Amino acid sequence: MPNQHLPTKPCAHCKREFAWRKKWERDWARVKYCSKRCAAAAKASGRG
Ligand SMILES: [Zn+2]
Repeated sequence: MPNQHLPTKPCAHCKREFAWRKKWERDWARVKYCSKRCAAAAKASGRG
């Protein structure tokens, strides 16, 4: 196997695609942002 196929989704804030992370294995369906930074920025902008 050359690569595992990891799911990706677009960040709700910066719109970049980001890939599944081990730390999200139980939470992937609820992850909306690629980073805490984007989550914080999204909240700060009023939609959160
Ligand atoms: Zn982002």
